[in-house]
Amino acid sequence: TGTPVTVIGLGLMGQALAGAFLRAGHLTTVWNRTASKADQLVADGARLAPTVGAALKAGSVAVICVTDYHAVRELLGASELDGTTLVNLTSGDSAQAREAARWAEERGARYVDGAIMAVPPAVGTAEATILHSGPEADFEAHRSTLDALGTVTYLGADHGLASLYDVAGLAMMWSVLNAWLQGTALLRTAGVDAAAYAPFARQIAAGVAEWLPGYAEQIDSGSFPAEVSALETDVRAMAHLIEESEAVGVNAELPRLIKAIADRSVAAGHGGEQYPVLIEEFGTPHGN
Ligand code: NDP
Repeated sequence: TGTPVTVIGLGLMGQALAGAFLRAGHLTTVWNRTASKADQLVADGARLAPTVGAALKAGSVAVICVTDYHAVRELLGASELDGTTLVNLTSGDSAQAREAARWAEERGARYVDGAIMAVPPAVGTAEATILHSGPEADFEAHRSTLDALGTVTYLGADHGLASLYDVAGLAMMWSVLNAWLQGTALLRTAGVDAAAYAPFARQIAAGVAEWLPGYAEQIDSGSFPAEVSALETDVRAMAHLIEESEAVGVNAELPRLIKAIADRSVAAGHGGEQYPVLIEEFGTPHGN
C-alpha cells in the first residue's frame, strides 16, 4: 500500500476506481476535464492535479477511464508520456486497443489495455472482474496496486485481448439471458411464472456450461465425432422449439435463427458430427 497512483477520468467509473485506490491506502492523484467531479475524492484524501501532465508524473502507474479512445487520445495528446505506465480501462474494440498501444509506445510510454466487467458500485470488491492485456512485465510491475480494483486478470501480450474477452463475455451473457427469456415466455403461456421456471433454467445453464471444456477440445483438434449426439438430432429438436413457440403464440425469431445456422452446417455435410462443428459457421462472415 501507499503506492502513488493516478486516475485520469472521473466519470461514474473513474470515481469508483479512484475511490477503490484510496480505500486501499494508495496515494491517489486524480484529474478530470470537469474538475468539480474530483470534489468528493479530494475530501476523501485524493490530490487533484492541475494538468494531465502533472497527474501522469505523480503516479507510478496511471489508470485512464473516459468515454472512448477518441477522448483518451485527445486528453493525452499534448502530454509528455515518456517513462509513464498507462493502464487504459476505457471501453473499445481490439483494433483501437492495439492502435492506442502503438501510439503510446511510440511516445515512450508503457501501455497495458484493460476492460472492466462490472458496474461502478462493485469496483473494489471481488465481484468486479478487470481484464488486462499487454506486455506481461508492465502488468506484473503494477499488479499489486491494480488488485485494489477487484479481481484482476492478465490475459496475454496482445493488447487486443481484453477487448475481445469483454465482447466474448457479453455474447455469453446475452445468449444465456435470451434463451432463458424464450423459455420463460413459453412457460408463462401455461401459467408458470418466471420465478417458478428460473431454478430449472439455472440448472440447465450450469449443466451446459460443464460441456464447454470437452467441446473446446473438439474445436481445437478440428475433429467433431458425435460422441453423445449428432447435429441432425439437435436440428430436429430445433424444429420442435420453433413449432411449439408458434403454436403457443410466442416469438419464434430466436429459434428460427438458431435453426438457420445449424441448417447451413447440415447442408454442408456436417449433420453426422457433434454440435461444436458449428464453429465453422460462427468463424466466417455471413450476411455482414
Ligand atoms: P461517464 O459518462 O460517467 O464519464 C465519462 C468520462 O470521460 C468523464 O470523466 C468525462 O469528462 C470524460 N471525457 C469524455 N470525453 C472527454 C474528452 N474529450 N476529454 C477529456 N475527458 C473526456 O462514463 P463512465 O465513467 O460510466 O464510463 C467510462 C468508461 O468506462 C467507458 O468507456 C465505459 O464504457 C466504461 N465502463 C463503464 C461501466 C459503467 O457501468 N459505468 C461499466 C464498464 C465499463 P467530463 O467529466 O469532463 O465530462
